[in-house]
Amino acid sequence: MQLRLASVDSRAHIVVGATATHCDVIDVARASNDSLPSDPMACFARWDDLRALASKASVASTNIPLERLDCPVPRPRQMFAVGLNYKRHAEEMGSPIPSQPLIFAKFQSSLNAPFAEIQIVGDTVDYESEVVVVIGSGGRNISQSTAWDHVAGLCAGQDVSDRKLQYAGTPPQFSMGKSRTGFSPIGPWVADMAGVEERNALRIGCSVNGEQRQDTVITDMIFSIDQIVSYLSSICELYPGDIIYTGSPAGVGHGFKPPVYLKSGDVVETTLEGVGTMRHRFV
Ligand code: ZN
Repeated sequence: MQLRLASVDSRAHIVVGATATHCDVIDVARASNDSLPSDPMACFARWDDLRALASKASVASTNIPLERLDCPVPRPRQMFAVGLNYKRHAEEMGSPIPSQPLIFAKFQSSLNAPFAEIQIVGDTVDYESEVVVVIGSGGRNISQSTAWDHVAGLCAGQDVSDRKLQYAGTPPQFSMGKSRTGFSPIGPWVADMAGVEERNALRIGCSVNGEQRQDTVITDMIFSIDQIVSYLSSICELYPGDIIYTGSPAGVGHGFKPPVYLKSGDVVETTLEGVGTMRHRFV
């Protein structure tokens, strides 16, 4: 069974079944007689042991409403994000195509749960549906050919962006406008991608109030997931549980003419194929 790691009541759980509204889970520490940690953050360095537990775990807590899920990676040491990693998105933002990965930070205090409310600040808040990579075994100077061996799994992510703040300076700097309270939801869980052949060709997208706004296959990325992991590790040591937002495809509200930003009451559903769907109400 594919390992999917979620957080419920701030404890690590393996998801063994899910519908659109509920999931069945196993408490990692209890099911392993405390040989595995209850803290989700401690699980990413024990990923192989979790895989083994997932393959034989049996008794589950059933029918947990998805709204009870916490952020599955609550305290990453580092949160990287890649800007302008899809050609059509760079064009809609009026930006040149990057010749090497354009990296900024999203800060840990902006993390959010997969089914939570997000507070709008100002009148230029926008969505960006993204594939989020969660690092398993970290390291430095990871080669592109072994990069996936260092990935625990993938989440769906929203890189919620305050466009006015993002472009306030000259030159613009992205990290602040993307780190407001609740602006970094990921989830609904971390899905193991070992042995998943389609992991380089998944669909990522989101809808606003049921209207599809983004829908792209990630083969359109300028820098692929293995290239990004290798590039980052050539500069920064990567640690278990670090997360990497890999960039937004085209279709953001900022790219509309005139731009269409999020308003109170909007519901954004973000889906990463092979992983799952998050839902956020903006207030
Ligand atoms: Zn982004």
